[in-house]
Amino acid sequence: MLRFRIVFGLGFLAINFLFGQQASSDWQTYYEKSNFKATPRYTETVEFCKRLADASPMVTYTTFGTSPQGRDLPLLIVDKNGNATAGQVRRSSNVVFLIQAGIHSGEIDGKDAGLTLIRDMVIYGKNKDLLDHVTLLFMPIFSVDGHERFSAYNRFNQNGPEEMGWRVTAQNYNLNRDYLKADSPEMQAWLKLYNKWLPEFFADCHVTDGADYQYAITYKIDQYGLLEKPVIDWIGQSYLPTVKPAMEEVGFPLQEYISFKKAHDPKSGMSSWVTPPRLSDGYVAIQNRPGLLIETHMFKDYKTRVSATYALLLNTIKVLNRDYTKLRDLISAADIHIASEKFRTNPFTLKYKASADSSWINFAGYSYSKEKSDLTGGDWYRYTKDTVTWKIPFFNKFESDIQVKLPEAYIIPVEWTQVIERIKLHGIDYKILREDKKIKVASYTFSNEKWSARPYENHHTLTFDMTEKEEERTFPKGSYIIPMNQQTAKVIANILEPRARDSFFFWGFFDSIFEVKEYVEDYVMEDYARFMLSSDADLKKEFETKMAADSAFAKSPKKIIRWFYERSPYWDKRINTYPVGKIFDKTVLDQITK
Ligand SMILES: [Zn+2]
Repeated sequence: MLRFRIVFGLGFLAINFLFGQQASSDWQTYYEKSNFKATPRYTETVEFCKRLADASPMVTYTTFGTSPQGRDLPLLIVDKNGNATAGQVRRSSNVVFLIQAGIHSGEIDGKDAGLTLIRDMVIYGKNKDLLDHVTLLFMPIFSVDGHERFSAYNRFNQNGPEEMGWRVTAQNYNLNRDYLKADSPEMQAWLKLYNKWLPEFFADCHVTDGADYQYAITYKIDQYGLLEKPVIDWIGQSYLPTVKPAMEEVGFPLQEYISFKKAHDPKSGMSSWVTPPRLSDGYVAIQNRPGLLIETHMFKDYKTRVSATYALLLNTIKVLNRDYTKLRDLISAADIHIASEKFRTNPFTLKYKASADSSWINFAGYSYSKEKSDLTGGDWYRYTKDTVTWKIPFFNKFESDIQVKLPEAYIIPVEWTQVIERIKLHGIDYKILREDKKIKVASYTFSNEKWSARPYENHHTLTFDMTEKEEERTFPKGSYIIPMNQQTAKVIANILEPRARDSFFFWGFFDSIFEVKEYVEDYVMEDYARFMLSSDADLKKEFETKMAADSAFAKSPKKIIRWFYERSPYWDKRINTYPVGKIFDKTVLDQITK
């Protein structure tokens, strides 16, 4: 063939282009062509994804939503049999691995690692057999609008690429706080995709800030109780024991996500936490599926970080391809257990607290000193490049802090449309109340409510005290009945139990229940209060005691009027009461849903 073309007059350069160096470099990624220093823009990224899909029958390019600025959210589906729907893949018995890059689009290592890895597999045939039982879903850039706020000055601490995207979306949402409350269009699209596919494994690629140390890459994955125990055991006994030595072998020893007891001070010991479901790895865990947080270290150069991410993704695919049957079975068993009556008989943990217990770990750091800054007067941690290994305590044990008894179902009055719309995004099954109905429910009343002074993720979050009460309440036709005998039971409890860390109550979706919306004129109450005192001896006694004991009250005409108003039949009976009801009685549930 080569000789033939020379004979027919093609020059050396053309031959070289068709068969030699140029032809293979044609599949080089933008990142490789830049000598590992730069990352492609959105358009170039999408073009490369489409080229992969055109060139390989294993790759499908699709989109799963649109950003507020009108960009498609790109997705590559990589499947050895060319399957491209959740149904096809499920029937093929493959496990699904969702790899997400660019949720914080300045931390973009995952995009270049993923594109290179997929190119290596589907174009160069490298490690192709690892796709025998694994289907990849790859999001090269999740926060697409943030990604196009492109600059060399977006990540102060970070050593490359030359330019990069911004941390948050165009609407200034941090997508990695939005998994449960789902405010952003990007997250709403993500949740629809996720709940269609329910991937057995998920990885979210970031670059961390924080102290300086030797590790190029760190990770976090639930081992503390969000997941069911058999899945946690698989992580601790199969996944990590395979991946850790494999990463060590290629020069990227893995350490768990690094956060020190005292900021920037390694010798104070490392602490961990149970991830709340506002974050990706916490969210997928309450969907009963392991989520791997990948964090490369900001000071390592871009090539080192992308290579470390590539290695961890590749080694994860290896384990998934080996353990695919086991992991699938463990997850479906967890799904069945969570939907079972047995699961609801045990108290459910809404919040965890760290125990004082710790274990010892070896930590590969750099020696450092703490000096007094003559500029700020504060502590100045100065790291050297002298490597040192310390034995430090790791506080990674947790116990239940707040628990709750789960009902057979929750019921949400039909008018709470904002809450209901979001519930639907989470793949939660529901039934509709067919007629107005008086139903015996447990619910909550609140007091001491306080909102954060500053906004956090576009909300003023809420702290409060509460008491539980039982009552018969009439729910309107069309109300949403959410039975707990489903795979998403942990998601439902995290959304609807007010004390859960990311409950919709905490985020302020029910704030209007605290507002007094009807009024009494004080001169009208003057008469009515006298009537109340004369017709109710107990009330009179209560009033006199209050006046004697509470001088601020006794001096405030406003408070006194309000006191009588609250005790009058005109007071709003629903104020400070949770509109959502908990149905514990199975026969009641059967009756309203049959
Ligand atoms: Zn991040």
